[in-house]
Amino acid sequence: MNDGRRRRPHARLPASMALAHLFLTVGVGWGVDRPGFKPGFNLFSPQQDVQLGRERAEEVDRSYPLLADPQVLRYVNDLGRQLASLAPSNNPAYVWTFKVINSSDINAFALPGGYIYLDRGAIEAAESEAQLAGVMAHESGHVVMRHGTHEASEALLAQAPLALLESILGRSGSLSGQLTAVGLDLGLNSILLKNSRDAEIQADAVGAYILYRAGYDPHAMAEFFEIVARKYPQKTVQFFSDHPNPEDRVKRIDAEASADHFSLGPPERRKSDSPEFEDAKKRLLSLAAPSSAETAPSVAANFASPPPPPSSRFAKFDGYGVSVAYPDNWHVQRNEDAVVLVPPGGIVEVPETGAAQAYGLSISRFQPQSSRQGNWGLVDATEELLSLLRASNPNLRVIEQRAMNLKGRSALSTLLETDSPLPGQKERDLLVTTRQSDFMLSLICIAPQSQFDAYKASFDAMLESLELR
Ligand SMILES: [Zn+2]
Repeated sequence: MNDGRRRRPHARLPASMALAHLFLTVGVGWGVDRPGFKPGFNLFSPQQDVQLGRERAEEVDRSYPLLADPQVLRYVNDLGRQLASLAPSNNPAYVWTFKVINSSDINAFALPGGYIYLDRGAIEAAESEAQLAGVMAHESGHVVMRHGTHEASEALLAQAPLALLESILGRSGSLSGQLTAVGLDLGLNSILLKNSRDAEIQADAVGAYILYRAGYDPHAMAEFFEIVARKYPQKTVQFFSDHPNPEDRVKRIDAEASADHFSLGPPERRKSDSPEFEDAKKRLLSLAAPSSAETAPSVAANFASPPPPPSSRFAKFDGYGVSVAYPDNWHVQRNEDAVVLVPPGGIVEVPETGAAQAYGLSISRFQPQSSRQGNWGLVDATEELLSLLRASNPNLRVIEQRAMNLKGRSALSTLLETDSPLPGQKERDLLVTTRQSDFMLSLICIAPQSQFDAYKASFDAMLESLELR
């Protein structure tokens, strides 16, 4: 099933003293005055950046396996806070917490207000402290330039009158909830994390500046992007999806890195590595490898061998506002707007359109267009979703639709037939839709038509286990 959206093959201190120090050292207003280092248009206050970031961070903490190793976390937080203390346009409200996701992917992302997440694989792939500092400084750049809430502000302005927005942003309570009410999805993988190329250029520039101030060679940031893209192309898809490569990235960073440009004079020393970095890396390499269930990209190398049968033992996925059991030989992957539970080899590469799911369960949220006008009905909203799915699955056909009961909630079950991403095969999909607060929750059980019956018992067990929060 191709859901029509961009596919991701797998599923990202107290500053007042530091600021004073920065101003004394480099002259009042440096960085703040420099046009490239000014945050863009924003409807939110820095405090609201923190509030939104915290709300989203709670979701990340629930949805991703976090590394709990105190030694690594202490190192990453010490380094991160030292870097953040040198960031331009810092704000005392920002929290600057750094967490490590226990995944072998090479990615990093920043939520508004200073909640920064690094994949364990990114630390392991860094060849020096300066390179790791480069990634972290880049993420800090997104925070201080407020790219997430800048994008959200622009999106909001496009869909609601300013007066309404101002009244919403002035209320107390969950900010995400209020923004959802005006039609802006600030869930994970939403606009808060979609960085434009302009934002990337600015985060690179701020990152280079921070590195320079911290005594590292700013080239290390460019080096890291280059090395990981070359050495681990499979593991960096997510990184360059969250942080799209600006044209001439390396050249631009090199230009930022020149001392003349900063007017700071030549650097006295350039740190590259530290014993602490080497210790943290050694420590990581000594820990058990991340669970493959969370990280293994399951892109089928060929179509010849179907996935192994679903295990009769179940694991539990908990996140994204749901809890659901799934066969324990399947993987969890997080795509652009969905959580996907998928057997090994269940995602296939399709020429031109990219990866598509041929087997498994896809869980996503859908916001009906009509939701902004008030109440929406499940049947209409499901029809709206189907018409979207038809755009990328032109041969989609409804076989049967009936009301059903999902743990006491009314739901709609729609049996579909469409083309499988497997060449020459038809696909059977069981779409189950129900309300989840303001959204419609959509679950799609997917298998080639010829094998749907073999998967039916597993799909039924998964749907029966489903709990909504
Ligand atoms: Zn970025």
